[in-house]
Amino acid sequence: MAELTGIGVSTGLAGGPLLRIAAVPALPEPAPVADTAAEVERAFAALAEVVADLGRRADRTKDATVAEVLRAEAMMADDPMLREAVQEGIEAGTDAVHAIDAAFATHRAAFEAAGGYLAERVADLDDLRDRAVAVCLGRPMPGVPQPGHPYVLAARDLAPADTADLDPEQVVGLITADGGPTSHTAILARALGLPAVVSCKGVLDIEDGTLVTLDGSTGRVESGVSAEDVAAVTAKAAEVKAAVENSSGPGRTSDGHAVALLANVGSGKDAAKATEAEGVGLFRTELLFLDRTREPGLDEQVTAYREVFTAMAGRRVVIRTLDAGADKPLPFLHQDGEPNPALGVRGLRIARQRPEVLTTQLAAIAQAAMQADADVWVMAPMVSTVAEAAEFAALVHDAGLPKAGVMIEVPAAALRAERLLGVVDFLSIGTNDLSQYTFAADRQVGTLAELLDPWQPALLQLIAACGAAGKKTGKSVGICGEAASDPALAPVLAGLGISSLSMSARALPAVRAALAAHTLAECQRLAAAVLDADDPAQARKLVS
Ligand code: PEP
Ligand code: MG
Repeated sequence: MAELTGIGVSTGLAGGPLLRIAAVPALPEPAPVADTAAEVERAFAALAEVVADLGRRADRTKDATVAEVLRAEAMMADDPMLREAVQEGIEAGTDAVHAIDAAFATHRAAFEAAGGYLAERVADLDDLRDRAVAVCLGRPMPGVPQPGHPYVLAARDLAPADTADLDPEQVVGLITADGGPTSHTAILARALGLPAVVSCKGVLDIEDGTLVTLDGSTGRVESGVSAEDVAAVTAKAAEVKAAVENSSGPGRTSDGHAVALLANVGSGKDAAKATEAEGVGLFRTELLFLDRTREPGLDEQVTAYREVFTAMAGRRVVIRTLDAGADKPLPFLHQDGEPNPALGVRGLRIARQRPEVLTTQLAAIAQAAMQADADVWVMAPMVSTVAEAAEFAALVHDAGLPKAGVMIEVPAAALRAERLLGVVDFLSIGTNDLSQYTFAADRQVGTLAELLDPWQPALLQLIAACGAAGKKTGKSVGICGEAASDPALAPVLAGLGISSLSMSARALPAVRAALAAHTLAECQRLAAAVLDADDPAQARKLVS
């Protein structure tokens, strides 16, 4: 048995035979043809295998549209004209692989020349060609394997195109050699609820079919394990899945300490879908302003906010005032020309130049709140000082809204959390930006992803400072950045004194189950342990 370590990016355990995404094989040098009939047979057998494989996949899939697409592709590979062209090529002295390649190239040119629907099928032809060439060379077909049984998928990294082929009934876990916590693989894995480890050097050296287990929290991969090990891990994963599916009700530790589980939304539609959430912890209002050359008017804003408040009747809605600039540029604010937009006039700072944008928004929020039955809290993004927080709170209260808070997205604010709570009613930590500014690492630059890992002890230390301030003042301190959606981290955050976690609604059941698996004292022990860790890997290991 061998152990490898990567970065766990999607929690959960999985085990099974490892299969790699096969690359498109390069064409070898042309070879002389000794036996024309045998060479034709070899080429036809390769085409027949491609047709049969597509047919098997069409039979297996539960999605009628996918089945139809696969059958249409199979028909293209089964075209007698294609076989004729291959045979002619071989009879003219070309080997099977090159004859297949040439026949597909001729077909491709004809499809392209025909234009319209046929021209749109050239990508399918390319895929068929790659598959037939691979089979003819005795290699696995390129792309995501479809063996018809559960397996762990290994790849250098997953391209968005690979994900369309990914069947969650067969793929039980993902391991990639490259990628970070924000890579496409990580995002996809979390969306599908698949345990995943990225940046796992050496995974591509493991032979196809080797039994492996992986832990998507710690990033630990074991290869060459026994079938019993795989069965034990699979049983444990099923137990966790059942716990997630059976969890319900408000967020609580096993001994009843409440941690409100809230949803991040951008519209009334999102809010209507967040049925399991105890409220909204972050209503991003930018959606209404995006792509606008002019600010949306008061009435339009009232309507949009009221939709969310109505969907959340009787529950809390934390609405955030406009967070424009940097990664969320808004045309009507004309912010071009800043040398460092992330460090420029963004978030609440825009109110210095355009105070009427904020006052109109607060008036709209107040009107919408009057027309619905939600418990409306209002917060500002990108606040750095106590003076900014006090000024914002005054504006919120002047608008007739009782609860004013600020986001903690800048280390300066985290360090002064207690003072901030002297002038506002609550804090909400935006870990996406707090990571960016703590580590001086642009959140949009994928190569810096390991610095933006929510398990970084420096980030957790800042969260701890805010949690402690919340406890001391008796005021609410929540988290609404990505860190809130990691089930393994949830008990740690509860132990650090965080009173609410806000995330995409999809992530909520797993976080609820993770919280319910620990007492508050256990959460506090885990919190103390991660603060003592040197790096994210050690922090994850201590918790697992
Ligand atoms: C954050 O920064 O963590 C956050 C929640 O805000 P946004 O991602 O919208 O910047
Ligand atoms: Mg932010």
